[in-house]
Amino acid sequence: MTKKPLRLYDTYTRQLREFVPLHPPNVGLYACGLTVYDYAHIGNLRTYIFEDILRRILEFNGYPVTHVQNITDVGHLVSDADTGEDKMEKGARRTGKTAWEIAELYTQHFKDDLTALNILHPTIWCKATDHIGEQIALIQCLEANGYTYLTDDGVYFDTARQEDYGYLARLNLAGQQAGMRVDVAGKRNPTDFALWKFSPRDQQRQMEWDSPWGVGFPGWHIECSAMAAKYLGPYFDIHCGGEDHIFVHHPNEIAQAQGCYGTRLANFWMHGYFLQLTDAKMSKSTGDFLRLQTLIDRGYDPLVYRYFTLNSHYRSKLNFSWEGMDGAARALNRLRRAAHEWGQPGAVDEAYADEFTAHINDDLNMPRALATTWSLVKSDLPPQTKKATILLFDRVLALGLADWQPADEAIPDAIMALVEQRQAARAAKNWPEADALRDQIAAAGYEVEDTIEGPRVQRK
Ligand code: AMP
Ligand code: ZN
Repeated sequence: MTKKPLRLYDTYTRQLREFVPLHPPNVGLYACGLTVYDYAHIGNLRTYIFEDILRRILEFNGYPVTHVQNITDVGHLVSDADTGEDKMEKGARRTGKTAWEIAELYTQHFKDDLTALNILHPTIWCKATDHIGEQIALIQCLEANGYTYLTDDGVYFDTARQEDYGYLARLNLAGQQAGMRVDVAGKRNPTDFALWKFSPRDQQRQMEWDSPWGVGFPGWHIECSAMAAKYLGPYFDIHCGGEDHIFVHHPNEIAQAQGCYGTRLANFWMHGYFLQLTDAKMSKSTGDFLRLQTLIDRGYDPLVYRYFTLNSHYRSKLNFSWEGMDGAARALNRLRRAAHEWGQPGAVDEAYADEFTAHINDDLNMPRALATTWSLVKSDLPPQTKKATILLFDRVLALGLADWQPADEAIPDAIMALVEQRQAARAAKNWPEADALRDQIAAAGYEVEDTIEGPRVQRK
């Protein structure tokens, strides 16, 4: 197989760059995890499917991947401006459970969603609340390097101390700062962000810890820099998340890494674009959103949603629609049925494999990769070649094509009667009548195929 080099779009440089691991052949990949105050919505899951495709493509290219993903179970405030309630404490109030209980509950639901979508689980899961010591150590490092200041409310990162702060977002700081409000008393610049927040004086939080600065909890951004560096080192291959992170969370992760380790944390920064709803809200804070279970309740196989998202490139916004889901369901069904019917795999078709590889290595061009898959399905290649080739593709697509079985569909008695008459006509070598019966069966929407075990009937 002539291998096309893997090229990925790096948001940091705003360029498509050839991907070369920093420590070949191993790749370190960090993905920002879910804030577990509620179920994941299907928008969140679009981002995790994109990251799964990325990981599978890296592995397809022969790179073993260490995939680290955090669970945000403390410190993510309702507003990105370090104000408002902690989402976890708010979720606890909503459900009447403790913050610790809902973290456990929604983490489990999230993991079940990943499994249902054939998303490979990370090599390392890490929870913010299990890494308070590491986060305090990183804040101390930033303090020692002169990047922090204290307010009544907590310890803040002074973004004015860093010349290229916000480069990832291409923030125009001069213009930006002038137009922004300083939301927290004592904050020096609007873009400054909390590293450690103090617990309110008049109330005890459910989640709080001692620190050199006082009792409180970590800011949201510090957990990712601290845990990524712990498990992947201070400069690793790829960091990814949803497009919203380009503007606040990731610039702040980079600022922290720059301030302590002198690196921009990752060689590539990659972002998946949002799933949007035209006829419903996709915001968890409104309490009205679609989750995977909603799709399952409507009768969709979870992998239909996976297929639906693969139809568009990860760097474009995607509108969710039920018509789109129905189209994906039909396509997936046809693909599964075809792959099932091809039987045992033979040898892979190298030309198709090359074409597929060229598309996936072209910054994860899954719409093109799917087009190649369909062209394979419609080709004249022998079934065993098609089967081997599609199973190779399915290492990336992960649509479960290897083990799908048709559900035992009940064929109406009237159709079975026609099939039996046709068998009798065939036995009597009455070919014109057998053909006429086949046409009659086809007109009713069924297909009959003659196999060694006898006729096989299925819906067309
Ligand atoms: P959160 O739980 O808010 O920390 O988000 C988890 C992941 O989902 C992050 O990578 C977000 O960038 C991503 N995300 C949030 N909303 C959407 C959306 N509508 N479409 C795609 N990804 C999203
Ligand atoms: Zn993060």
